[in-house]
Amino acid sequence: MDLFPIVMLQEGEEKRILDGHLWIFNNEIATISPGTRNGDIVHVLDFNGTPLGTGYINKKSKITVRLLDSAADNGFSGLVEDIYKLLKAKLTTAVKKRSHIKNTNAKRYVFSEADSLPGLIADMYGKILVIQITTLGMEKQKEKIVAILDELLKPSVIYEKSLSPSREKEGMEKKEAIIKPETAIIKPVEIYENGLKFIVDLVHGTKTGFYLDQRDNRDKLQKYCEGKKVLDAFCYTGGFSAFALKAGAMQTLGLDTNEEALKTAADNMRLNKFEKFTFEKANVFNKLRDLVAEEKKFGVVILDPPAFSKTKEEKEGAIKGYKDIHMYGMKLLEKGGHLMTFSCSQNISKEDLITIVNEAAQDARISIEFVETLTQATDHPYTSRIPETFYLKGLVLKRK
Ligand code: SAH
Repeated sequence: MDLFPIVMLQEGEEKRILDGHLWIFNNEIATISPGTRNGDIVHVLDFNGTPLGTGYINKKSKITVRLLDSAADNGFSGLVEDIYKLLKAKLTTAVKKRSHIKNTNAKRYVFSEADSLPGLIADMYGKILVIQITTLGMEKQKEKIVAILDELLKPSVIYEKSLSPSREKEGMEKKEAIIKPETAIIKPVEIYENGLKFIVDLVHGTKTGFYLDQRDNRDKLQKYCEGKKVLDAFCYTGGFSAFALKAGAMQTLGLDTNEEALKTAADNMRLNKFEKFTFEKANVFNKLRDLVAEEKKFGVVILDPPAFSKTKEEKEGAIKGYKDIHMYGMKLLEKGGHLMTFSCSQNISKEDLITIVNEAAQDARISIEFVETLTQATDHPYTSRIPETFYLKGLVLKRK
């Protein structure tokens, strides 16, 4: 039986944990057992000594403890002593949670805090498992996690792609490695999603290779596209274009600055035997203006920009940028046309997005109605108890 160091919280600081969050900030801690090392598993108590949960610590990070098990969980039975057993239970639950998703062989099996496994992301692309570790505490559990996921998912290859800039805050370098088998070569892999095929470049692609979180929205796009010209702004490897064409779009134009992604996008269309597509290397901010100046019109416009706003300070600039692309995006819509728009910026809320869209419509003197609200795919669950797990907000609106 392991004995873990104790972290005791200051008086009254247990509330957020009892409400279901998993983070403990440095200024909420009263005492830490002497000799506790960064990355260690710790037991957390409230000021009166009541157990709050088991997690891991890193004094380098403002989020000093992240819990793996907490008093707010159903079935909490006190401080955990067997970490392997705990990780196995969490990972098994996470994997089972995705078993209903049968329309693809590329899914996210572990989504960090949303699965009570802070610092860990695990995506399967066919038989290849890609893991991403963002915290020192999780890094220290890697061997156990890999062994458990290997048993649960039976991948033929396990590849680690831990490139998140947040590793720096944890005092860790970025890391990329083939975990199993050592001799494996990671080549682009072909996956399927809702009846279409896509090539995913796990090594050179963004994130773990594919925007799995947009799967359900790519599917939902289809009902707006039949017979329409579709503009896919920030298209990456053409996911939205492909579903527009599947639904009978007259033609698609995809825009992105990432040349490699655009090449894959064109390959993806050919792979599915689509012909009426164009992909163009362009900065969306300039290109939308140009298209408006050329009086081009589209039946559907998709705006899926990257996270412009990573920090609170960047929020103002981000809002201006978002408003800009919405204004031009709306001007490009024909009457009755639909705009599908997204924000994956953590600190732009759904309400912010609605405000931005409304203001953009006013500035563009365009009358709109909201048709649908969208969010991240179901393998990226979120819980209201941890607001940070909800990050992808989307809207569909119609030009009247
Ligand atoms: N819609 C895509 C995901 C888009 S991710 C899908 O479903 O797969 C955001 C994309 O925006 C990235 O591919 C990035 O290269 C691109 N990007 C970022 N800034 C850009 C800009 N100013 N102009 C054009 N593309 C940009």
